[in-house]
Amino acid sequence: MKVLVTGGAGFIGSHIVEALVDSQYEVVVVDNLVTGHLKNIPPHVRFYQQDVRGNIDDLFAKEEPDFVIHQAAQVSVSHSFIDPLYDCEENIIGTLNILQACVRHNVKKVVFASTAAVYGNPVYLPVDEAHPLQPISFYGLSKGHAEKCIHIFAETHHLDYSILRYANVYGPRQDARGEAGVIAVFIEKLIQGESPVMFGDGKQTRDFIFVKDVARANVAALTNGNREILNIGTGQEISILEIIEQLATITGKPILPVLRPGREGDIRSSVLQNDRAQLMLQWSPCHSLQKGLLETVHYYQQESLAGMRG
Ligand code: NAD
Repeated sequence: MKVLVTGGAGFIGSHIVEALVDSQYEVVVVDNLVTGHLKNIPPHVRFYQQDVRGNIDDLFAKEEPDFVIHQAAQVSVSHSFIDPLYDCEENIIGTLNILQACVRHNVKKVVFASTAAVYGNPVYLPVDEAHPLQPISFYGLSKGHAEKCIHIFAETHHLDYSILRYANVYGPRQDARGEAGVIAVFIEKLIQGESPVMFGDGKQTRDFIFVKDVARANVAALTNGNREILNIGTGQEISILEIIEQLATITGKPILPVLRPGREGDIRSSVLQNDRAQLMLQWSPCHSLQKGLLETVHYYQQESLAGMRG
């Protein structure tokens, strides 16, 4: 079975590619490398440097994928406020283009990367899939619209799908410059011998899920969870202070963060209920925070050493 991964040169996409290869799928990647890197793709995986908003029919006709895992997107919440049209083009029009190609080329199923940002400020915790959709960013809004497009395609063209709403994903290859990557930012600062900046009292919580668990959920969604919208998180609320404590234990160094006032608009607490994903995908996250952080710290240390060697 052949899987086309859009955005497969990116942080999460590249881990999905690896998980698919490990599960004996044939994998093809399309990515325009706007934020992704060629070095993230295993050498034997076929790669097309192409934009998902452009003419993608030739690629589909040539490769005839059985499944599409659609990760390519504009992923920055803050950038979505600067240029909402770009989010619209990338996340809605790009998705529509992929959906049309899927229908024209008889793709069996599309798995879509959505986000907890579609919920906005939680009205209750943990956030389940029935929680109201009240996005507070153009990023969340664009992803919510893309989800609706997928629904309509499923109804009108019988295209199967799974929509996976990811919590805060962390792990190797995350870009420390992305504002979603607080763990990557902290680790990079620590490796550079600098203090990380902590906004507010550090008691704000998030649901941090290790990237390899997200990749496994995507692989599981090829065969399970058809026509489902599923939260992909750990179900555990972790505070920023807890992250700092765990990183101090792992690195063996005390961490004294630089304190800054809380940022306006930051959500206080967030955690996703993952029961439905566990049931429908026959999946559960298997990396504890400690294990995931250890692997992530190790990755950034290796990268730093490689950088020093030139
Ligand atoms: P990323 O920026 O590392 O990956 C996105 C990839 O898509 C990059 O390789 C980029 O080059 C590619 N891309 C972007 N626009 C493209 C286009 N028009 N045509 C072709 N390729 C294009 O980001 P990521 O964190 O790996 O995000 C992957 C997916 O997961 C996204 O859809 C994102 O919205 C979703 N998501 C991420 C998080 C998180 O915490 N990182 C949380 C929720 C949802």
